[in-house]
Amino acid sequence: MLLNGRTLFLIVAGTFVAGGCAAVSDHKLDRAMIAVAHPLAAEAGLEILKAGGSAVDAAIAAEMVLTLVEPQSSGIGGGAFLVHHAAAGGAIDSYDGRETAPKSAVPEMFLSSSGSPKSFSAAALGGRAVGIPGLIRMLALAHAEHGRLPWALLFEPAIKLARDGFRVSPRLASAAGGDRDFERIAETREYFRPGGKRIRADDILKNPALASTLDAVAQKGPAGFYEGPVALAIADAVSHAPANPAPLSAIEIAGYEAKKRPPVCTPYRAWRVCSMGPPSSGGIALLQSLGMLENFDLARMAPFSIEAIHLILEASRLAFADRDLYVADPDHVPVPTEGLLSRPYLQARAQLIDPTRSMGQALPGRPMGAPGDLAAESGPERGQSTTHLAVRDSDGNTVSMTATVERGFGSKLMAAGFILNNELTDFSFLPTEFGKPIANRALAGKRPRSTMTPTLVFDADGKMILAIGSPGGARIAGYVLKTVIAVLDWKMDIQAAIAAPNFVNRNGPTEIEAATLLAAIAPALASLGHDIRFRSLESGLHGIEVTAKGLRGGADPRREGVALGLP
Ligand code: GLU
Repeated sequence: MLLNGRTLFLIVAGTFVAGGCAAVSDHKLDRAMIAVAHPLAAEAGLEILKAGGSAVDAAIAAEMVLTLVEPQSSGIGGGAFLVHHAAAGGAIDSYDGRETAPKSAVPEMFLSSSGSPKSFSAAALGGRAVGIPGLIRMLALAHAEHGRLPWALLFEPAIKLARDGFRVSPRLASAAGGDRDFERIAETREYFRPGGKRIRADDILKNPALASTLDAVAQKGPAGFYEGPVALAIADAVSHAPANPAPLSAIEIAGYEAKKRPPVCTPYRAWRVCSMGPPSSGGIALLQSLGMLENFDLARMAPFSIEAIHLILEASRLAFADRDLYVADPDHVPVPTEGLLSRPYLQARAQLIDPTRSMGQALPGRPMGAPGDLAAESGPERGQSTTHLAVRDSDGNTVSMTATVERGFGSKLMAAGFILNNELTDFSFLPTEFGKPIANRALAGKRPRSTMTPTLVFDADGKMILAIGSPGGARIAGYVLKTVIAVLDWKMDIQAAIAAPNFVNRNGPTEIEAATLLAAIAPALASLGHDIRFRSLESGLHGIEVTAKGLRGGADPRREGVALGLP
């Protein structure tokens, strides 16, 4: 059975938009823009852009507001990756604000006393999984290089909202309302259930503790976070957590370092795609998939047709087989990034794809520079949180940034008004398998592997044409892959590409977004050998497209975001 992909897509997109949760933007003449997961964050970013701020300035202002209004997803108690393109000179920089494991971390930290991996929820709750937050140091590093407005000014919108109160969104209300763990953690419970009453959509919520934390960071820079009362509050919350307490000192927090890393970039047909390298696996998985798919003429296939989707799923399988074996913190394990992205290697991998039959589980390849004797990781799946934002300033500088506290509300611990992450559960719970070490095993000082995929695409003249990324845990690379192909190969506008149904393969079952018309092609995919699962696949794709007429923004209708432009 072959459906006409174009018709299929239009109907599905129509359903989402009519379902009506997101503002759709098509600011064809805009010259600056921000696309982000919450309208208040978009307004803060836009205010900064209006005041002459750079893309990095606006990203900082927006992320501080997200810390307040979307605490389930990201914030200053977590980490992020930021990819930046400078219009003048064309430099592409990537910044690593990934959390690090404290001194007490050991490879067996998520094993139970019987030696088997703990359940994800048992491991993620409380102090043990909290990594030293990286967001503030990373933003300060990016601001030092690409900021234009004074650092302190960028905190004003968030401080004001935290003091005066903000309107609770339906998404925050439902995430906080249903969380049973809050009952165990006094500060979190008091904030989200003041006087035992759950916060509800449209309630006005104030966060004076966060206002004073942000004020300290605004006045003192990163020292306001990594030293003094805020650092002590983090150390105390982790060390004395009601669940899984783990030793963490203020001195360790002070020692956190954000890093500038080389971005990963490869050609894809006429374009060049750049994304975040290790310790994220997302950029490599995206670029590997594209590198394999370059060997098939996707543009000639109907968008979202069975033949195209099958090829994309198979390429993703192969990319994930490599990811699970090779990608981890490059400061601790040799990651064969160059080999994984080499054209001949990807051509050889592409030959494993049979257009008429699924290969089932893919095996990892042997790229140049591959270390011997590693075991592949097979981890639990998770990820309801995380946030992606894209900003373009009027000089043409662009930011693509994904930030996270890992799962919804991270560790569920709060300190000094913000949620603390549980990023360390992104390490492999098993340190070894069949006697061989797993690259992504936990270690003191190490960064857990991520799948966050903040991406920028350039045309043949080196012009930046697309900034995109998403939350979604290990599915992020798949969400971004779908969107990039829809925009580049199928010429869909960014909003339509984002809204189009998701489908993902992480070298296991094929996951299809439930309640979309992709259900109609599921039987055909099954007959090619795919093991089909219907899932909500709740991406949170946000992006900006640069067209001949100006900027076009895209906000994922599955979440609460918007794209706002400046004419
Ligand atoms: N912690 C995940 C990562 O860094 C992101 C979680 C999510 O997207 O929900 O890959």
